[in-house]
Amino acid sequence: MVSRIYLDGNATTPVLPEVVDAMRPFWSESFGNPSSAHHAGQRSRVAVERARSACAALLNAQPKEIVFTSGGTESDNLALTGVLQPYLDSRGTAGSQPAHLITTQIEHHAVLYAAEALERRGLDVTYLAPTADGTIDPAAFEAALRPHTRLVSVMLANNETGAIQPVGKLARIAKAHSPKLLFHTDAVQAAGKLRLDMAGEFKNVDLVALSGHKMYAPQGTGLLFVRKGVQLAPLFHGGPHERQRRAGTENVPGIVALGRAAELARACLESEDAAQSSTSPGLSSNLSLEASRNQLEAGLLAAIPGARINAANAPRMNNTTNLLIPGIDAESLLIALDLQGLSASFGSACQSGATEPSHVLTAMGLTPAEARSSLRLSLTRLTTEDDLTRALALIPATIGRIRASRAT
Ligand code: PLP
Repeated sequence: MVSRIYLDGNATTPVLPEVVDAMRPFWSESFGNPSSAHHAGQRSRVAVERARSACAALLNAQPKEIVFTSGGTESDNLALTGVLQPYLDSRGTAGSQPAHLITTQIEHHAVLYAAEALERRGLDVTYLAPTADGTIDPAAFEAALRPHTRLVSVMLANNETGAIQPVGKLARIAKAHSPKLLFHTDAVQAAGKLRLDMAGEFKNVDLVALSGHKMYAPQGTGLLFVRKGVQLAPLFHGGPHERQRRAGTENVPGIVALGRAAELARACLESEDAAQSSTSPGLSSNLSLEASRNQLEAGLLAAIPGARINAANAPRMNNTTNLLIPGIDAESLLIALDLQGLSASFGSACQSGATEPSHVLTAMGLTPAEARSSLRLSLTRLTTEDDLTRALALIPATIGRIRASRAT
């Protein structure tokens, strides 16, 4: 049987075999509740704390700064609502102290809808528009800061276009405006692919959301980095788990998996640094990921008349390409490709099935028709040369057939 071609790594990644092996014992032999004082419980506690250290190491952070959650959506909601909760009054509407949130029009809905919910409760929110290349302009950001801006939330890498935002620079501008202002970034699509140094480039960033299933751990796992000293109101009420920041018995197998995925991601990033600093021709995974993405992109542009890359001039994630194919309905194309064994996406996965054009692409100035004609292809570390060869034959041929059937 010919294997399917999976080019939807930004929707989810496969769980690596090493990660499955690490988590397996915690479903059966080591099932203790980490809050239990007995031996079984303490075995789980040790495993959770070991995973916390591994996640902290990926971020060059302290283990105490890691709060385990159920994924990117919860982490983003915890960051926004947790920071801004004190500015709401007891009825949940804006209180006497004014608060302003700056975010962007290109965020994932996990941030965008959390911001809209806070806005409905009376908080002041600015949604910055991106440039035509899908990035946030630092000058426009600086102009949006106000005396009562309390929180900024700007994603690190966009899930649809892969455009990388100048988060380190924006956070520096924000802290120069007011050292008390807090800065959150949704780094869900960047984790494991870009270096996230919370003591270096991102030392002015206070909160970072990560999701396990975008970095080869299972769905339903994630974390929020909360810089030491940052006060956060919990979303859930219950036990004192996660240092009072996230009540609920820990998902031990999921946390162990996330820790193992973080170790593997760190090792991969380190080997890339070594490969880049030496002149050795040996490719490590991220470098080959970028080469593969470039090969795919160049092949598609050459074979599909009129096609172009969205956010082409922005710094972009090494695994993502968002292709505008004028006149083609991306939804019909995806169905045709799926029937032939290729999985891809248009817009973000959560929007697939909905008819709304991508809010990210329309914010960049694409017309709704252009947004509906855009296809997202995102590679994983497991994408093979054979996958690319087959995709490069299949996608242009399918588009050619659709175009030909319309011409007759
Ligand atoms: N943020 C970004 C940028 C994402 O791409 C996603 C998922 O696609 C999320 C947040 C939500 O993460 P999760 O699926 O873990 O809730």
